[in-house]
This record gives sequence, structure tokens and C-alpha cells, in this order.
Amino acid sequence: MRCVVANWKMNMLQGEASTFCDTFLEGYTPKDNVQVAVAPPFTLLTAVHDMLREKGIITIAQNGHYAKRGAFTGEIAMAQVKDAGANGVIIGHSERRHLFGETDEVVGKKLVKARAKGLLPVLCVGETLQDRDSGNTFMVLRQQLQVVAQAGPGPLWVAYEPVWAIGTGRRADLAQIQEAHAFIREEVQVAFGVPGTNVPILYGGSVTPDNFGEVLGVQHVAGALVGGASLDPAKFLQLVGIAQS
Ligand code: PEP
Repeated sequence: MRCVVANWKMNMLQGEASTFCDTFLEGYTPKDNVQVAVAPPFTLLTAVHDMLREKGIITIAQNGHYAKRGAFTGEIAMAQVKDAGANGVIIGHSERRHLFGETDEVVGKKLVKARAKGLLPVLCVGETLQDRDSGNTFMVLRQQLQVVAQAGPGPLWVAYEPVWAIGTGRRADLAQIQEAHAFIREEVQVAFGVPGTNVPILYGGSVTPDNFGEVLGVQHVAGALVGGASLDPAKFLQLVGIAQS
């Protein structure tokens, strides 16, 4: 199965989200080979879930806290995310790691808690340009993937998102994507055994309708996590169409 995820980040108001969903649904025909997912901000989770679920599109939160409840002003618990309609949650996005200081330890706790609440974790991993330039890409990926072994087999999507490719217009080249995805596949298989073969590994970083086709042709690429291009329903429809074809 292929997967295409729209990460809206901190964009969209109620009216914009509603217009997006109307336009998208008009042009969208579900197909069994592709799971479409949208990750709106928390404030839009319920509305987007209600608008899109009829056509089998799942809703994913962009974050969730690992604590059950309590004095964490400004945070949202996994149970609340689930209660708002989310089917899954993005964990360890590079913007969370780098702008908000999320460590692998925190990411690991979130992964475990998401599963405990029945949410599909979408775990993001990826190296910075400095990591890549100093030859540390695979060391960093292995480190970030330790949470997978620690959590053990269970529901999981992984997104390989080189930090230098996110929102920069500089997509990783096919050879870089190929070797990173092969590495992640191996790590997940070591962690999960045979079920690791079926964990979808998505690519993320400046994916557009112009470059998605060739990315999908790379071994172990099951789809994409898309930021910028997912804000435009026409472009997102194109991306979904490419995955379906
Ligand atoms: C992202 O938000 O995870 C992302 C990949 O963004 P963009 O597609 O804009 O690079």
C-alpha cells in the first residue's frame, strides 16, 4: 500500500480548511492501493476528520504529549488527539526536534503512548546538512530509529525527511533516498523481524507533482509526507493521482 500524507503545519483557518476539503473531495476517487492522510493543526482536527472520513481519508495530528493528563499548559494528550478524531499522530518531525528541542527520549515516549491510545505513529527521522556533510547520516538515522526497537513491533509508518530538504525546494536525489530508505528498512526489520518488511517508509522533503513520480520509483519508497505542496488542493490531488497510478 502507498501512503500520501499532507502536513499542513501551522497553516489554515476553518474556512480555508473547509474550502480545501470541498475542492479535494470533488476531484478525489479513492483507490485501494493508496491511503491518503491529512495532518491539520489541532484546532481543525475534528472538522477535517468529519469532512474527509467518508471517503476513507484518515486524519493525523501533528503532535501529541506522552503524559496521560495534568499540568502541561499548552500541550495536548494522545487521548485528546484521539478524542478529537485523529487516527494517527506525527512524531519527531524535524521542526519539533530542532525548534522545540524534542529529544529521542521524548520521541520514544510519544511513540509508545500513541500506540497505547490506538493512534498510528508516523515517525519522522532525518539528518541535518551538517550530519550529511560530516558523513554521519546513517549514524544519526540509527540513533533516531532506536525508539522503534525499544517500542517493539506494532503499527508504524516511518518518514525519511532529510532536514535540509524540508521546505527548501531542494529535494534529496534519488540515490540519497534509495540508500536511506534501504537503511531504514533494514533497521526496522532488525527491530520487528518479518513484520518490519511491511512498515511503509515515506519520503519527505520538497516533494511536488513534478518530482513525486520518480521518487515513488525508488525501492522501499511507499509514498510521501508533503508540506508546502499539500496546502493546494489541486497539487495534493495531483500527488495522490501519481501514487494511485
Ligand atoms: C514536511 O513538512 O514534513 C515537509 C516535507 O515539508 P515540504 O514538503 O514543504 O518540504
